[in-house]
Amino acid sequence: MILHSCSPQPTTTPRNCLPDSFVALQNFKSCCFYNFKKRPNLLKHEMHSLYCPKSLSSNFKIQAVETDAGKLDNTTTKLEYDDLIWPSPSDEIPFWKREFPSWDIETVGPVDIPKDSDPMHIVHVTAEMAPLAKVGGLGDVVTGLARACLTRGHKVDVFLPFYECINKLHIKELALTSTYNSYYDGSWIPTNVHRGVVLGIPVIFIEPSNHFFKGQSVYGGAYNELEAYLFFSRACLEWLQVSATQPDIIHVHEWQTGGLPLLYWDMYHYLSLKKPRIVLTIHNMEHYGECRAEQLSKCGLDGSIYATEEKAVDERTIGHNPERLSLLKGGIVYSNAVVTVSPTYLKETLCSGWLAGTLIRHRDKYFGILNGIDTAIWNPATDAFLPAKFDANNVEGKKICKLFVQRGLGLAPEGLPGDPDKVPLVVCITRLVAQKGLHLITNAIRYVEALGGQMVILGTAPDARVGREFEDLAQLHNRGSSIRILLTYSEELSHMLYAAADIVLVPSIYEPCGLAQMIGMRYGAVPVVRKTGGLADTVFDMDDKSQPEMANGFVFEGIDEGSLNRALDRAFSYYREKPNEWKGIVKKVMQMDNSWNNTARKYIYIYSSGKLGKSSIEYAPRKSPDVAKENCGMRDACSSDDTKPYPTNHSCQI
Ligand code: ADP
Repeated sequence: MILHSCSPQPTTTPRNCLPDSFVALQNFKSCCFYNFKKRPNLLKHEMHSLYCPKSLSSNFKIQAVETDAGKLDNTTTKLEYDDLIWPSPSDEIPFWKREFPSWDIETVGPVDIPKDSDPMHIVHVTAEMAPLAKVGGLGDVVTGLARACLTRGHKVDVFLPFYECINKLHIKELALTSTYNSYYDGSWIPTNVHRGVVLGIPVIFIEPSNHFFKGQSVYGGAYNELEAYLFFSRACLEWLQVSATQPDIIHVHEWQTGGLPLLYWDMYHYLSLKKPRIVLTIHNMEHYGECRAEQLSKCGLDGSIYATEEKAVDERTIGHNPERLSLLKGGIVYSNAVVTVSPTYLKETLCSGWLAGTLIRHRDKYFGILNGIDTAIWNPATDAFLPAKFDANNVEGKKICKLFVQRGLGLAPEGLPGDPDKVPLVVCITRLVAQKGLHLITNAIRYVEALGGQMVILGTAPDARVGREFEDLAQLHNRGSSIRILLTYSEELSHMLYAAADIVLVPSIYEPCGLAQMIGMRYGAVPVVRKTGGLADTVFDMDDKSQPEMANGFVFEGIDEGSLNRALDRAFSYYREKPNEWKGIVKKVMQMDNSWNNTARKYIYIYSSGKLGKSSIEYAPRKSPDVAKENCGMRDACSSDDTKPYPTNHSCQI
């Protein structure tokens, strides 16, 4: 859509003109595992090259002395996978950085999902979106939920900052469609709007002409992140306004977009945006979007008026100089509905943490909906990153994946002649942060080795001290043949590891939902998890005789090493001593439905429910319309009659 909204605007307001020009798009197709004449059925897939270039970089170097890692003695396997290019730790290009076959993921959506009777226009405003700009589960959730809603017949757009690190060549139909201005700190910033399609989802990329969102990673650029996301929040509303778009729902995520509900209700709703209602999803209560009043003022609101308990003050800072605001709290107060990502995390957040009081006050608009996983993106039967495909009814390919990873990483392969021991492979794919149970992860390295198992950790540590600790561990363990600690981010390798794993370990201290255990299960890896948050909602202990039909993994409660060790003991003993039962669990976890198809309808219910009509206005006294109009550069042109719609093609400023 190319808008030409250079219709009369006051001279005080910069022109929001929308020129069009196009950026060429190149397709990328390649292959890595096979000679393709032997594998005619590989699907086309374009995911591989969608990642940030940064995400492909690695500081990983396998230090292992190459073991005798992979004499293929299984004749069937040898015949079947004759053409497989087996990796080795001494490969110049690590196996997860090879080029992969194309696979058009858009066409792999579920076909049997009925369309909803009342289609809505849903707009996500987010800091992350998988796989383009993914750091953790937030990116997966936005993509998975958006695709599920599209499948159900809704119109969905995702607003994402146009991070410099995004691999732009691989966004379909990428085009610069317009330029407009959005307010920041007393100036109007010329801002580009690019449109493109990612995994079938229309995406609107916001690119300010200042230094925001520049850098080689999604987070941690050389700009003030809080102010950049406040700018982004307003820029999305500004764009909806200048393009006269009135979605039904604006769905914001995390603290980064927690300022948007304030901007919406106290500014844009008094201008031309009348229809949208706001839903906030809290993916993790760890970050509150701590913010000084003057920082909030930089996006055009009067920050000082939010410094009250019922609005956005961070209660922990009351009496301090200066007191702080919390964008997350403001988002909770000002949104029409607030969702967190599992029923158990909902209960936990109502019981502890300084935001519990706010959540209790807003309890009747606060919901817990378990995340899903996108079963087209995470599908071992079609996954282009896997050297062999498999499903619940035929797990032969999983053995190949395990052997492939073992050989590639120089781990001693299981099942060599004369090696009667069974060697379960444990994987842990995670951000290396305190929440994830760092002491339990490091303990698991030692304990799995002691038990004669193998373990691969794939993780990144945002904290340099933690990074150094794990680098030391890698130095120590990566030379042997049973442990690999890979301190890098690689989507491709994560797919291969889930496929190779017998056990997926998630020992989090707290875990709002957790996707790793769900993805692991989809790939036939049995979860060993700590009983917290969404882990408690998705994994049920094999030895809990009260609900055997639910049993699908191994659960421990304590945060001490002993509790984890006992769970690992039990998992290893099932694996080694009850192979048939183990096969049964593998089949069962692969057949479980943790897909978005299952849970997206709960979001749809909230989007469309009467509950959403209960606006936060009832909870949060708002600024008067007069104040909002003062914040609008067109206040002279704006009607003083609050019932009369304001002109659409103008911008607000202080
Ligand atoms: P969180 O959102 O707290 O990071 P989740 O379990 O909800 O945890 O989601 C984590 C997601 O990020 C999963 O898709 C996981 O596979 C992925 N992930 C985490 N670390 C890495 C990594 N180093 N490389 C590739 N993927 C990773």
